[in-house]
Formats: sequence, structure tokens, C-alpha cells
Amino acid sequence: MPGLTRRTFLQNAAATAGAAYAAGAIPGWASAGRGTVAVNTPLSTFAYSEVELLDGPMKRQFEENHARFLHLEDDRLLKVFRQVAGLSAPGEDMGGWYDLNGFSLERTDFHGFIAGHSFGQYLSGLSRAYAVTGSEDTRAKINRLVKGYAETLDPKAKFFDDYRLPAYTYDKTSCGLIDAHEFAHDPMAMDVHEKLTRAIVAYLPEKALSRQEQRSRAHKDTSYTWDETYTLPENLFLAYQRSGKPFYRDMAKQFLEDDTYFNPLSEGNNVLPFEHAYSHVNAFSSAMQAYITLGSEKHLRAATNGFDMLVKTQSFATGGWGPDESFGEPGRGQLGDSLAQTHASFETPCGAYGHFKITRYLLRVTKDAKYGDSMERVLYNTILGAWPIQPDGISFYYSDYATTGKKVWYRDKWPCCSGTFPQLAADYHISTYLRAADGVYVNLFTPSRVQWNDGSGRFGLKQETSYPFDNKVQIQVSGSQEKEYTLYVRIPSWAKPDPVLSVNGKRVSDSVQPGTFAAIRRTWKDGDRVELELPMPLRLEVVDANHPNVAALVQGPLVLFAVADSQPSFDRSTLLQAKRVNGSKGDWQATSADGSSITMRPFMNIDKESYSTYVALKS
Ligand SMILES: [Zn+2]
Repeated sequence: MPGLTRRTFLQNAAATAGAAYAAGAIPGWASAGRGTVAVNTPLSTFAYSEVELLDGPMKRQFEENHARFLHLEDDRLLKVFRQVAGLSAPGEDMGGWYDLNGFSLERTDFHGFIAGHSFGQYLSGLSRAYAVTGSEDTRAKINRLVKGYAETLDPKAKFFDDYRLPAYTYDKTSCGLIDAHEFAHDPMAMDVHEKLTRAIVAYLPEKALSRQEQRSRAHKDTSYTWDETYTLPENLFLAYQRSGKPFYRDMAKQFLEDDTYFNPLSEGNNVLPFEHAYSHVNAFSSAMQAYITLGSEKHLRAATNGFDMLVKTQSFATGGWGPDESFGEPGRGQLGDSLAQTHASFETPCGAYGHFKITRYLLRVTKDAKYGDSMERVLYNTILGAWPIQPDGISFYYSDYATTGKKVWYRDKWPCCSGTFPQLAADYHISTYLRAADGVYVNLFTPSRVQWNDGSGRFGLKQETSYPFDNKVQIQVSGSQEKEYTLYVRIPSWAKPDPVLSVNGKRVSDSVQPGTFAAIRRTWKDGDRVELELPMPLRLEVVDANHPNVAALVQGPLVLFAVADSQPSFDRSTLLQAKRVNGSKGDWQATSADGSSITMRPFMNIDKESYSTYVALKS
């Protein structure tokens, strides 16, 4: 077919595959079979290839991450696995968390913490990036990495002998292999996955263990006695769906942390306090897969209740949560107290990755706009302000909300957050739009294009916007022919009093309510224009009820951080009269209680300067 680019081909293939999934059929390349699911969610994601990010910070982060891992040498990534297998292991050590455990007088970082822990995440990030771009170099690298890893894997997976956190690293490797299969159609990945999974069982306990349970069991290494068995089911359910092999589904059920986590959450008991933050938010995605795969309403309740508790009792104004990677007891002012106690306020790439996943699952099931609101809060105030992973593996890890705070690099190379960042940046594509039986949901406002085929023709939407620095979003409709469908546009809950939505210059009057998806059903024509104009008043959000005079200045989805070497104080009404600085990219100017002029700046635009996330209110 002349003129058919790789990208177009992929898009068509993905659209066909999407239609096939919807009909319950099996796409040709996955001839090994698919596992059935109990619930078809009302919304589904588009294929990665159907969404294109246009110039903006999300596209930049995606491209930076794709390039970083595409150009990281295979030999370095595979070295630890080859060393344990007794194979020739050329290439430099990765350094940091990634190397084999070994005491080193020269190393001051966390050297050899969890060897090879993030290999699967880099493989997953590359596989999702391939699904977006169709880059042949990326596909070839994925094939080489899977093959190289397979050569080191023996039937007993002896790599995990005396390994500190077998479930932790297995889960990430599992994700990488199922993604290499699903998105890069790697011919070996599912066989390698099954061999690894059958072997890993010998290294796992009989069920998911809470940290309390793990502490009570004797362990020879008392410094790290936890493992994250409770995060395993999500990827095991996905492995079942993608392979059709029931043993994966049975193993997923075995590791659902029901007794100490999902059962109480499903009954509305807040058992988050003192748990490890990221991994327990990540576990909500396991509950969602239990709902989707098994139809378990209890697990849906656990995830919706748990997420609600996260937002209401554990979250900062930025959407970040879990200071010192831990949840606190509600009602005791722990978030406010943490501002004086720690600079490790939010584990940013991992936390944002987990947050995007759970909000996407909850959106797919409930169609509730509040999950989109929550996703964009985390997007603009946390991850888009993260510095890019450096060539040597030095990474951004914690956002610092202390009074005062600063952006810093994490001390160790290749930490967990270097694994989730490339996965999340690829997931920006599937988080921006969602598909319904009767139309399309616009969830994030960002320069982008979505295009799909539905059998009758080819359709698309193109967004142009400088949001959140501007309050206007333009959506251009394209179509090979006229088509009746519903366009759903998220109206954020803060967009009061009067959000304006219009089609071809004519205002849509009904159903434009903050906190909902506004629905426009009509016969769309090529060239139709949709315009959204959101009110973005300034508001104050206190850190918690125990600290009523410690507040963040918020505009729309953006927290405005006070740039200063010490925490400024403001009169409430003066702060709410802050003025946008003309010609700047998102800076505001506010007058403090002592009369000095303070710059208020979004996290995305902060570099080395000191800031206060929360300021003091004098009146
Ligand atoms: Zn992390």
C-alpha cells in the first residue's frame, strides 16, 4: 500500500485490535489466546498509537525518557543477570540500586540494594514507547533485552537465591515481559514470563503479607524485612488476560491482600495509617484488576474507598501524598507537622505512576470526573516538575514540601523512580482521552491528537491549548465523513462559577457543570470547533484541619509555590489578590504581610530556587 507509513499502519492495526477486543475476538498476533474478563468497563483506553502528544511538557518528558532508555547499553542492563548466571558479563556496572549486592568502602550511595530491580520497568517503558512511536530501533532493543534476559534464566530462577525482595523485582520484571508481548509483540516474552513465574513461587510466601506480618516472621536480614507481595495481582491478572492461562489468575487471587487491607477498606475502615505509601496505592490497582477480571464488587469498593481516604486524609494540595513514604493517622495534623520534619514529602515518579494508574482504572469504571481532576493535580504539581533522569542514572525522587524546600537529586543512581518515570511518561498518551461505546472522553487538556477508525470511517480530535497557564482549550474535530457521537469534556470541580463550552462559536447551555463530564451529542463534521473556557479563580487550601493558618495558594489545577528563602506570611485577602506577572510563564506576584513582593511559581517552572509550598496566614 503506497504511502502507508509505519505509524499509520500501527494505528490501523491498533484500531482493528481494539475493535476485536471489544467483540471478544482474539487478535492474530496473540494466537496463544486471551483470558476472559468478568467486567467490560464502560470506558476503555485508546491504543498508545492512537494518541499523539504535540509540543508541550508531556511530550518532552515522554521523548526524554524514551531516548534515555533506548540509548542505555544492553550489556549494562543485562550485566547482573549474566553475572549470577556465570555468563560472560561485559559492560560497565549500572551503579546505585541496580548492581549486585556487595560491600564497598568507596561507595557512599545505596550500592547494590536490589540488583536488576528496574530491568522490567525499563523494558515496559520501552515497550509502551514502541506502541506510541513504532520505532524499529526500540522494537529491536526490546527483542534483544528479552532474549538476553532469557539466556540468564534457569528453571529455578536462581538469581533470586538470597535475594532481598523477590516479589518486588519479580513484579516489575513481570510487567516488562507482558508489555514486551502486548505492545512490541515480542515472540519470546510470554514464554520467558511463564518460566520466571513458575520458578518465583518457591521464593514467595503462601499469601500476601502485610509489613506487620513480615516483621513477626524471623528473617536473617533484619534491616529489610518487607517485600511487596501485595502488589503482585495486577500484573498476574494482566498476564492471565494476555495469555489465557488460568494459573496466573489463581496465583493473582492467592496474593490479594484481603485479610489486612482490602476487606477492611471495602467496609470503609481506614487502614492506611502506618502503611508504606506508594506500594499500598499501587495495590489499589490489584483490587481493580480483581474487579475487572473476577467481577469482585468487594475489591471495587476497597479501591474506591481506599482512594477516597487517600485524597481526603493523606494528600497535600499538590495531589502528592505520603511524607517519608508513609501514611499517617487522620485528624492528627500529620501533613502539617511533616512540613517541619521531612524533605521527603512525596515519592514523585512512583507515586504519580501509581496515581495515574488507579485514577485511570476508576475513571474507566465510574466515569466520574473527580478522578480526572485528581490525575491532573498530580500531573501539573508533581511529575511535570520532576527533573529528567540523567545519563548516569541520577534521578529525581522526592518532591519537597518542607518549609522551606528545594528540588534535589536523589543520592543513589537508578532508584525505583527511574523505573516508573518512563512507564508513566508513555502512559500520558492513554490518560488524555478515553473511549466509550457512544463517544470519546477528553480527560486531560494538553496539546494532543487522538485518531480512531470505527469501521465506518476515520475520526479525530486535535487539542490546542497552553493550559494550565491559559484557561482556554480548543478542540478541532476531524472525520472522513459525518458521524453522530458524544464528545465528553471534563469540567474540573474548581471551574466555578461559569465554565463556557461552545461548538462552532455557539454556547452549549445545558449540562456544563463543574465536577462532571459535559456531554455534547451531535452529528460531528470535519472542521467543527469546540471551545472551552474555564474560570480559574485563586483559592487557598489549608494543609490539614489542625493547621488552619498554613495554606497553599491554588489557581485552577496549579499550586503556586512562594519563592523565598524563608516562609512568607500573608494576609488572607491580600494573598488572594495576587497578580499574574505579564510576560512570564505562570508566575504570580503577591504582597506579603511585611509588605515585600513575593513571586508565586508553579512547580513545573521551579529549578534551584528555595520555595515554600505552604505559606503562613496571619489573618
Ligand atoms: Zn520511587
